[in-house]
Amino acid sequence: MTDQPLLEVENLRIDLLTDGQRLSAVEEVSFTIMRGETFGLVGESGCGKSITALALIGLLRAPLVIGGGRIRLEGKEIQSLSGPEMRKLRGNRISMIFQEPMTALNPLSPVGRQIAEMFVLHKAMGWKEAERHAVQALDNVRVPAPERRMKDYPHQLSGGMRQRVMIAIALACGPGLLLADEPTTALDVTVQAEILDLIRDLSKEQGTSVLMISHDLGLIANMCRRVGVMYAGRLVEQRNADEIFESPSHPYTKGLVASLPLLGSRAKHGRQRLREISGVVPPVSSFPGGCRFHPRCYAATDMCQTTAPAETVLVRGGLVRCHHLESSI
Ligand code: SF4
Repeated sequence: MTDQPLLEVENLRIDLLTDGQRLSAVEEVSFTIMRGETFGLVGESGCGKSITALALIGLLRAPLVIGGGRIRLEGKEIQSLSGPEMRKLRGNRISMIFQEPMTALNPLSPVGRQIAEMFVLHKAMGWKEAERHAVQALDNVRVPAPERRMKDYPHQLSGGMRQRVMIAIALACGPGLLLADEPTTALDVTVQAEILDLIRDLSKEQGTSVLMISHDLGLIANMCRRVGVMYAGRLVEQRNADEIFESPSHPYTKGLVASLPLLGSRAKHGRQRLREISGVVPPVSSFPGGCRFHPRCYAATDMCQTTAPAETVLVRGGLVRCHHLESSI
């Protein structure tokens, strides 16, 4: 990892246009990913993680639009690039792998051709040369007998193999940034571990930065050096992964950490009951005023209902949005 930023997101806002209204689905989201770094975004479903990733790669679709802020990739602002300009970047400098590869892969095209297409589109290769590179790309993601697998259609492969093909497509052109949105949620536990190891190894080998998105704080802490915790469209805490576990500051982060099973704790302390955060993430149309977490927060006061908390820089490093940091600690 270097100390040079690869991706800088500044005050990103994403709006939902509905019934003549402009609702804020994501706001004031700022974070930086260094070259070669793996940064995690964590939070429950509906917190805005995936639409943040779609905004970064230019795949937001109506009724969601970028409402403000800046996205800089390798020093260049990309939030207002035209469709053709963004297509040149996508798959080349910034790529994405999704939770369910079956919906992202073309079911009517052999996987080898789908990988080779990346080299034809972005590296101006002829098909023969692109196919040779595609075999290598399959080999890189540890697909056995890659020449034979080239001719397979997505439905002929297992879920784990399909995800490897997605990773091969995403990393084919050596992008600077890989967005991994819940890349292992649909897989068995053992295959999950293999895919995560693969992403970690390949990003290290190629120096690729990764934005890892998951609802699973354990997975994120395992993969990432720094973590951003999202709740209802806002980043509520940003810290080093080990600090998030050892001393979470925001009440929402505390709830996420307390809901994790701790290895060995049952053996030491007998039956352990996991804690849960009461309530659910509200839909965008019902985001509450003030601190959006206040209806679920054990430390909420009157001020929390009316005033959104600003970011506080912690002395020990990191950022938190909460009016009552001391009482929440
Ligand atoms: Fe809880 Fe208030 Fe802090 Fe929000 S600002 S997390 S409601 S204490």
